[in-house]
Amino acid sequence: MEKAVSCPFVYANGHRCSGVVYQVRAYGPDRGNGHIDLADVRKFRLWCSDKNDHAGAVSDYVSKQRMEFYPDELVRLGI
Ligand SMILES: [Zn+2]
Repeated sequence: MEKAVSCPFVYANGHRCSGVVYQVRAYGPDRGNGHIDLADVRKFRLWCSDKNDHAGAVSDYVSKQRMEFYPDELVRLGI
């Protein structure tokens, strides 16, 4: 990534995570060679420098979704 993007995760107490996003993975149809066209991306998964995927001690379906965002959500967050 070209610039540090602050982690969009918001804790239950309303405070936003102070980490920065260090890894992004895009999910969508594979056009071959593992390439996913940006226009085809259905979801992004983010990793943060502070808490990685924010899954915490519990690794269930809900916690996995904590760091998954739809493309329009990221635009709204300014990422
Ligand atoms: Zn975070």
